[in-house]
Amino acid sequence: MIATPPPASLAERIAQAIRDAAYDCPGDCGLDERDCDAQHPIQVAACHWSTVASVYGDIDALAATVLPTVEAEVVARDAEITRLRAELADARTPTS
Ligand SMILES: [Zn+2]
Repeated sequence: MIATPPPASLAERIAQAIRDAAYDCPGDCGLDERDCDAQHPIQVAACHWSTVASVYGDIDALAATVLPTVEAEVVARDAEITRLRAELADARTPTS
């Protein structure tokens, strides 16, 4: 089995989060259409080669789905900036 590499770019990670959140109702989930949409606010609209290609969904649900991915990116970049500032401060400290 070939392991799938993690998405490389932020845009790819956001796309993957949306794909992961998309619910593909089989049509016999036991709910009527309104309740199914309410319970699964992001649903598969189309697949291409077994990959979710498009979704339809509630804007707030899409935003909530994307937010953790963006937050993780901000936290990681903050940590990198903090590390670089410390490295810069060390470089400016005269050695005697
Ligand atoms: Zn359903």
